[in-house]
Amino acid sequence: MVSAGGVALIIVGLLVLIFGFMIFGWALSLPTLFAGQYLIFGGLIVAAGIVLIVLGARTRGKNKEKPVPLSTCNNCGTRNPVTSEFCGKCGIKNA
Ligand SMILES: [Zn+2]
Repeated sequence: MVSAGGVALIIVGLLVLIFGFMIFGWALSLPTLFAGQYLIFGGLIVAAGIVLIVLGARTRGKNKEKPVPLSTCNNCGTRNPVTSEFCGKCGIKNA
């Protein structure tokens, strides 16, 4: 399964990456005196884009794992993960 959140993160990451490379390319056309700080700025944006893509890829990986089974609360009917000891809505102990 592909999670929408993960794909969105990857797309945003790619856009940020392209933006970073644009700043990088623009900085190269500047006089050397000013280029240095913009090269660092562009590099940071590229790094941020890579981080977003990695996070997006990890989100996709997580969603591949088995979903947590749900149990219905005997008191209020709320669906809770079987791993939770108490009902998330009324707080009664799960059967
Ligand atoms: Zn309940």
